[in-house]
Amino acid sequence: MLLNYKYEIYPSESQKETLEYWLAICRQQYNSALLDKLNYYRKYKKGLSHMLLQKQLTQDKKKLTFLKTLPSQPLQEVFFRLEKAYNKFFKGDANYPKLKKHKDYTSITFTQFGTGTRKVKNKKTGMTKIQPVRYAASFDSDGNLFISKLGSIKIILHRKPEGNIKQAIIKRKGNRWFAIFSVERPANPPEILADLIKTTGIDVGIKKFAVLSDGTEIDNPTYLRIKEKSLKRQQKKLSRMKRSSNNWKKQVEKVQKIHAKVANQRRDFQHKQSYWISNKYSVVIVEDLTIRNMVKNRHLAKSIHDAGWGSFKHMLMYKCERNGGFFVKVKPHYTSQNCSACGRTVKKSLSIRTHLCKHCGTILDRDHNAAMNIEKAGLQQIKWKPIA
Ligand SMILES: [Zn+2]
Repeated sequence: MLLNYKYEIYPSESQKETLEYWLAICRQQYNSALLDKLNYYRKYKKGLSHMLLQKQLTQDKKKLTFLKTLPSQPLQEVFFRLEKAYNKFFKGDANYPKLKKHKDYTSITFTQFGTGTRKVKNKKTGMTKIQPVRYAASFDSDGNLFISKLGSIKIILHRKPEGNIKQAIIKRKGNRWFAIFSVERPANPPEILADLIKTTGIDVGIKKFAVLSDGTEIDNPTYLRIKEKSLKRQQKKLSRMKRSSNNWKKQVEKVQKIHAKVANQRRDFQHKQSYWISNKYSVVIVEDLTIRNMVKNRHLAKSIHDAGWGSFKHMLMYKCERNGGFFVKVKPHYTSQNCSACGRTVKKSLSIRTHLCKHCGTILDRDHNAAMNIEKAGLQQIKWKPIA
C-alpha cells in the first residue's frame, strides 16, 4: 500500500522561477497531448496510444530545446495523468478532460526517487551489467531534496517517511511549495495480529476527548485548554481595537501565532492518541457522524470543533489500515440511549452523564455505555467472530 508524506520545501527565488517554468512546460505538454488525442480520434476513429505520445515527445525533444531544461520523468508522467483523466471519464466518474489553466496545474511528479539500478547492455560483448543510478529526484548528503537540473532544496522532515519512497511530487500551493512522497509500506501481516486481536468502540467525549468501550478515558490535555482560553482572550482584545491601527495589526499577528500553536498542539495530541489506539486495537469502531449533522445541536457543536473529531478519525483510519487492522464506521443509532447490557432503551437528555438502566440495573458512565454500543454495532456490521 502507498502512504503519502507531505513536507514544506524552501526553494530559492531562482529555483521557484525554474519550477514555475517547468510547471508551464508540463501544462503545455498536457494540453497539447489532449488536443493531439482529440484530433487523432477525429481522423482515425481510435484512441492515440500512450506509446505514440511517447514517440512524439522523443521527436519533439530534438527540435524543442526547452523540453530538455527539465528532467524527463515529469514530462513523461504527464501522459499518465492524461490517461488517468480519460479512464475516469470512461468509468463515468468525471467529465471529459479539459485543457488545464495555469491555476489548475500545480504539480510535477517524479516517478522514481533516490537511488536504484539499471541494466546496461554492452553492444560488443552482448553482456548485460547492472549499474547503480541516481534518479532525478533524491536526497543529497545533507538530507535536502535534490532535483537534477535544479539543485538542492531545503526541506524539513518533521517525521521521516517510513519505508521506500516510490515517487515524489513537487507541488505549489499559493506562495508555498511542498514535496509529497509516496511510500510503500507493507501492511503488517494479519497472522501476527491474529493472536492478539483486540476490538474497541470509541465515543467522542463532550467533557472528555474520547471514551473507549473498555472504559479507557482520554482527557482533553490541560495545556491545550489553557492555550485555547488565552486565544479567546486575545481574540476578544482584538475585537475591541480600531481596525487597521498599528496596535490592531500587532494583535492580529499575536492571535495568528497562538492560533497556529493551538492547531499544532492539537494535531500533535491527535497523532499520539491515534497512534497508540491503532497499535493496541486491531478493530477500531467509531460513529459515522457527519459533523454537519451534529452542528445543528449547538451545545455539541463547540466541543466537536474543539476536539477536531473529523481529523482525529481520519488519522485513526489510516493508522489502523497501515497496521493491517480494520477501521469501521457505524450509524449512530441510539448509541447513547440504549443499554449496552440488555439492549433496552433508557432515555436521557444530554445533561445526564450516567447511564442507569432500570431494566437490568447496569450503571455506567454515559460515554462508556455509548462506546460499548458502538463496538457492538460495528462487530455486528462486519460479522466479526472472535477466535476462540
Ligand atoms: Zn439494561
